[in-house]
Amino acid sequence: EAKHHCRGTFRFYSQALQDRLDHELEIERQLREALRHEQLKVHFQPQFDMTRQRICGAEALVRWFHPELGQIEPAQFIPVAEKTGLIIALGRWVLEHACRVARLWYDRGLLDLRIAVNVSPVQLRCEDFIADVTRILDETGLPADLLELELTEHVFLESTKTHGHRLGELVHRGVHLTIDDFGTGFSSLRYLRDLPVQRLKIDRCFVSADDGPGLADPAIAKSIIALAHNVGLEVLAEGVESEEQLAFLTSHGCNLVQGFFMARPREQSDLLMFTAQFNGQATPN
Ligand code: C2E
Ligand code: MG
Ligand code: MG
Ligand code: MG
Repeated sequence: EAKHHCRGTFRFYSQALQDRLDHELEIERQLREALRHEQLKVHFQPQFDMTRQRICGAEALVRWFHPELGQIEPAQFIPVAEKTGLIIALGRWVLEHACRVARLWYDRGLLDLRIAVNVSPVQLRCEDFIADVTRILDETGLPADLLELELTEHVFLESTKTHGHRLGELVHRGVHLTIDDFGTGFSSLRYLRDLPVQRLKIDRCFVSADDGPGLADPAIAKSIIALAHNVGLEVLAEGVESEEQLAFLTSHGCNLVQGFFMARPREQSDLLMFTAQFNGQATPN
């Protein structure tokens, strides 16, 4: 009986695993095609400096437009890309594209608009990562100060000293580092000391709530703002979806905000217009 049960269970899991594997292999195959056939795009979401009432940056978010399946969410393909190593090529493509676009903004007179690019722990582990970033900055001519890398806490499951040292090279050049999704990952605070980061991003789950316009978790949000300021870092709240959330964050000294309430991710030309208008510059053609 027990034996049968176990075998049944094993078969069940094994089948589920097989399905997932098939699915992931399929996603991987399609994603390779996507990279080759220009099905990937990058959208940009404005980041607002609350003190200066200006858009001071934009986050680059990859988009996959599949010819048959339509738009596929990053949540569906980024994890697969990480597992298969495809994230190295994909991430490099996003970084290169984002830096080229940011250089264009700079040339159009948006001189302080920084581009924030998500970096997977898998990319960071790769030997070539630092050299890739350096090369891309050189080739695009983007001032290093206008590039920000968003790292998640998962990066710091590994040696913070090693990463700190390598990332230090980029920071020395002027690149900014941010901890993304702060509060959801590996919650050791040691890396705040060991790594040359400038900013924390409060994860969306503490900000936008399913059940109303208030802040999802005001106590945690306030604590993260205080923690950031106490250790000399800036803090950005992501996922701001209501006026009430915005007001709460502003009144508690949150430096920067990003979210659907202010602006959704958009194409680069839209971002350029939107920012020029918001910041009160002449609209670039
Ligand atoms: P993330 O880096 O935390 O990016 C923020 C996500 O929240 C984006 O989802 C953005 O569209 C969404 N968002 C922004 N404001 C709001 C809001 O007010 N409400 C709600 N509900 N959502 C909001 P997206 O574009 O689907 O990306 C999801 C995740 O996929 C990102 O989370 C990031 O971890 C990953 N990702 C996206 N692009 C890249 C990339 O180029 N490279 C890597 N490694 N990861 C990426
Ligand atoms: Mg991010
Ligand atoms: Mg985030
Ligand atoms: Mg997040």
